[in-house]
Amino acid sequence: METLNIPFYHAVGKEQEVFEHAFKNKLPLLLKGPTGTGKSRFIEYMAHVLNKKIITISCHEETSSTDLIGRFIIKGAETVWIDGPLTTAVKEGAILYLDEVAEARPDVIVAIHSLTDHRRELFIDKLGETIKAHEDFMLVASFNPGYQRGFKELKPSTRQRFVAISFDYPEAKIESEILIKETNVDSESAKRLVVIGNKIRNLTELGLTETVSTRLLVDASKLIHSGLPKRLSVHAAVIEPLTDDQQTLEALKDLCDLVI
Ligand code: ADP
Repeated sequence: METLNIPFYHAVGKEQEVFEHAFKNKLPLLLKGPTGTGKSRFIEYMAHVLNKKIITISCHEETSSTDLIGRFIIKGAETVWIDGPLTTAVKEGAILYLDEVAEARPDVIVAIHSLTDHRRELFIDKLGETIKAHEDFMLVASFNPGYQRGFKELKPSTRQRFVAISFDYPEAKIESEILIKETNVDSESAKRLVVIGNKIRNLTELGLTETVSTRLLVDASKLIHSGLPKRLSVHAAVIEPLTDDQQTLEALKDLCDLVI
């Protein structure tokens, strides 16, 4: 029964080996790379392989250490403590995935500090307690190194606390396999979608904030597979999400109409 639910993940390098050894050695892991390149899917897959629970937190500018560690809430006449997801993961030995960790408030980085070195402990300041991490607790964070694009940076002193793996757009053959496996789209359309993806990725002069991710190509494949005309599928799933600039939209649509 279990195997039916294994998330589909196509390896692109040695990431599985690195993950397994990081887990075995209780080292925190940083997944670097642009959005939509399979980081979250990889974590889901690895959690399955290692038979561990995964707790995901999508970090944003309001994410604070309180959100992660826990808080007191008022229940009737009493004040009770509620563990946050980080505390739960530390106690239960789950994999905690901090998606886009650099976006979180700086106190989040401070909170995870003692969990990322030999101490492997969490200090809960509101309780005045320090808890030792469960044997199997693992901290994984993702980070989008999109320097000039308005993404936040991660300090070198923080980065150096993690073992890191780079994610990028997969090579053409692998990417079209992903599209086929993920959506059942026909192989000719998959190939063409990957060609479009790579053409747009190479157009660095357009200055797009984010370029075509595998996620966008997966979306286009789904639309094609469900019967939407191919060009319309690409326009809607790939081109429109990229930009609002009318001229750029036209240029990208022309480019894709030459391919599909
Ligand atoms: P990220 O976390 O890097 O933003 P995701 O893991 O959410 O990206 O990937 C976006 C989508 O792209 C996934 O839902 C999946 O359909 C597809 N995908 C990307 N890379 C892979 C891969 N290596 N194997 C399987 N699916 C992938």
